[in-house]
Amino acid sequence: MVGLVIVSHSAALAAAVVELAGQMGGGEVRIEPAGGMADPPGAIGTDLGLVAAAIARAAGPDGVLVLMDLGSAVMTAEMAAEMAAAEGDVRIVLCEAPLVEGAVAAAARAGAGAPLDEVAEEARSALRMKAQQLGIEDDRDDRPGDAATIADAGAQEVRLPVRIALGLHARPAARVVETVGRFDARVTIADATTGRGPADARSLSALVTLGVRHGHTLVARAGGPQAGEALTALTALAEAGFGDELIEDGPSGDATAAGAPDATADEPPAPARPPPAPESGSRLRGIPAGPGIAIGPALRLRRPALDVAEAGEATGDPAAERARLDDARAAARLDVTAARDAIAARAGEAEAEIFDAHLVLLDDPLLLDPAYAAVAAGEAAARAWAAAVSAAAATYRALDDAYLRERAADVEDVGRRVLRALTGVADEAITPDWHGILVTADLAPSEAAALQPDRVEGLAIAHGGATSHAAILARALGIPAVAGLGDAVLAIADGTPLVLDGEAGVVEVDPPPEALVARERAREEAGRRARQARERAHEPARTRDGATIEVGANVGDAGEIPAAVALGADGVGLLRTEFLFLDRDRAPTESEQRAVYEEIVAALGGRPLIIRTLDAGADKPLRFLREPPEDNPFLGVRGIRLGLAHPEVLRTQLRAIAGVAARAGPRADVRVMFPMIATVAEYRAARAVLEDARAQLGAPPVPAGIMVEVPAVAVAAERFARVVDFFSIGTNDLTQYTMAADRGNDRLSELLAGPWPPVLRLVAQLVRGAKAHDRWVGVCGEMAGDPQSAVLFAGLGVDELSMAAPLVPAIKEVLRGVTLADAREVALRALDLDDPDAVRAAVSALWP
Ligand code: PEP
Ligand code: MG
Repeated sequence: MVGLVIVSHSAALAAAVVELAGQMGGGEVRIEPAGGMADPPGAIGTDLGLVAAAIARAAGPDGVLVLMDLGSAVMTAEMAAEMAAAEGDVRIVLCEAPLVEGAVAAAARAGAGAPLDEVAEEARSALRMKAQQLGIEDDRDDRPGDAATIADAGAQEVRLPVRIALGLHARPAARVVETVGRFDARVTIADATTGRGPADARSLSALVTLGVRHGHTLVARAGGPQAGEALTALTALAEAGFGDELIEDGPSGDATAAGAPDATADEPPAPARPPPAPESGSRLRGIPAGPGIAIGPALRLRRPALDVAEAGEATGDPAAERARLDDARAAARLDVTAARDAIAARAGEAEAEIFDAHLVLLDDPLLLDPAYAAVAAGEAAARAWAAAVSAAAATYRALDDAYLRERAADVEDVGRRVLRALTGVADEAITPDWHGILVTADLAPSEAAALQPDRVEGLAIAHGGATSHAAILARALGIPAVAGLGDAVLAIADGTPLVLDGEAGVVEVDPPPEALVARERAREEAGRRARQARERAHEPARTRDGATIEVGANVGDAGEIPAAVALGADGVGLLRTEFLFLDRDRAPTESEQRAVYEEIVAALGGRPLIIRTLDAGADKPLRFLREPPEDNPFLGVRGIRLGLAHPEVLRTQLRAIAGVAARAGPRADVRVMFPMIATVAEYRAARAVLEDARAQLGAPPVPAGIMVEVPAVAVAAERFARVVDFFSIGTNDLTQYTMAADRGNDRLSELLAGPWPPVLRLVAQLVRGAKAHDRWVGVCGEMAGDPQSAVLFAGLGVDELSMAAPLVPAIKEVLRGVTLADAREVALRALDLDDPDAVRAAVSALWP
């Protein structure tokens, strides 16, 4: 029968728990108290000698379960368990269950003759009974990291809104773990919107598996000496979007349970009957995951086998096994850090953050606790770790949410790194001396990071989707990729010629030679055009019949200007000034802002600069402006509405801009643009603030225009054109408001991916109203950087297009290839079509 040890700071408490649990265990179970200090007897504290002695008394052939209260009790119990294990062949499990409930439940189970693991599990789930009685039962199955299995967090509580597009996915959740980890506090988090949780805020996996989505509200509860500080830090983190952009708006095969056959391939369990190899000339459809066309022979990715059993039988020395596991985690940490640095250098900081989440996973209690427990119970480190990873990955895979399901690959990737260190299998270079298209069931982020774009022409992935980290990295590295092709792609023989179209999401298998030649030619042509576009980037975008369209850059940081100029931007059509305001406790001062705008003006060397005033709101909250939460932030107090609600913020910004104009004089072409204007009165009010600032500073006239994001403006364009100096169409918001489709909702991507004829009609209407008063019209939403939409806008009479700087050369080149007359004709036809597919088909007729 399993014995129990009760470790407490208080001798009286330990004795009382023993008495209570003994009654439940029927008196047969050996339950030994280890409370207080030996010297002086009964003093509050925990004593290694007393705990070790209690373990020795409770020990029997079925092992010992140790329950403890808090703080040093945990450490003392760990040390005593290590000593006991070193001295004899005894299985000990240290259990994190709540002391009283856990002891009672464990005693009952042990008394029934259950084995050690079951007794431990019973103790862990002890709180559930109480929760059920109180009617606060979590409706889901067991989930490691649930608060049902951890001690009660405490009484302080805050509510945290989640206003980030992808919800609490791995990266923001990692920031929660990191934030909580800075405080001496025990924190749980529950999703008040779905009722899920609470989960241990130190467990990345427990947090992520809550399935928190954008728009949900979390309840964080904390206890412990620094509970208040922890909750304050969490509140600030939530207000800053958990580090994401606030919107307005067992490792790969090895991670089967311990004892499973050794995994050798890169695939999850093979389907019962593998699909036949696709026939020559067939086309496999998948999900576009990285744009571009790749042509080359197929090569199946093969991973080295990681033999968990080979990693060694249990040494029988739990302390040594635990040390091996910790050493392997340390080695994996170095690997992850190296991958992080490599990706930061090749693709950028944002992509590198994927690996920050991996670093947190290495310390995640959801992986570590069961692995340590298994090791303490006598399991070998590799098997213990593989089982823990397998269970965690399975938890992810069982979730409803597709995005979260894909995070299983991150858990497995981290798990595999640790196993590699434990098994001593070297990290095989996954890009052999070969050029072609890599075919694989899935691709771990670490493998994607190791890809060499000069060899791997494309990626054909059987599973996963466009939001997998592998897909994100493939895009960042410029490798064409198609995901979700299904198992059939895995049956393609090595060397089979493939054509992969990363935009259409199609793989052609062994196409006929003439199709291959045509594809090759099209690819070469695209390459030639891209080279030519770069060479001519500094020339104006003049159509074949002599009309010039200005092509500017959208910029969100002063540091981006030199690159934009180098890429041929004629100016900055949209300076998003949010970068000056977000993540700050105080608003930037007038002189601070002026210095930044002056730096930008200088870097632009006389090119025009359109500064958009702060476009924040309840959906992109500012730390220094407290606004009540809104049910529909996209329809709430954002953009100019917020500026007019806080005139001091708007005034300071407009004074900084007027100050730049006053100092730079005619050397600078500085204009102001107000976001989210819906009424003429809003424009007049904002303009009045600008004119005041200008008068005070003796600045020359500063043209003031508006963003066209609200359909009302396009519909009443002529009325606005009487008063505004210019318009710039924000197609991102204009599309979301026209199609009634939240721009952050991937399920509505079809409604958001233009060019939708109704949106084009609004553009046409806007241009008509603007031209009635000779007003200039630009487009600065993402559509401006789409070649076909760019031609349509030119045809509708738009004067300027502004886009992400890397797109500038290609858009200029596209405009050079058409006549304005043709563009006009096709744009007019497009207004009468039904959907973007029909519009694109019409425009593509203009291309050679
Ligand atoms: C837009 O809405 O199209 C736009 C350019 O503004 P933002 O994307 O910053 O909302
Ligand atoms: Mg907008």
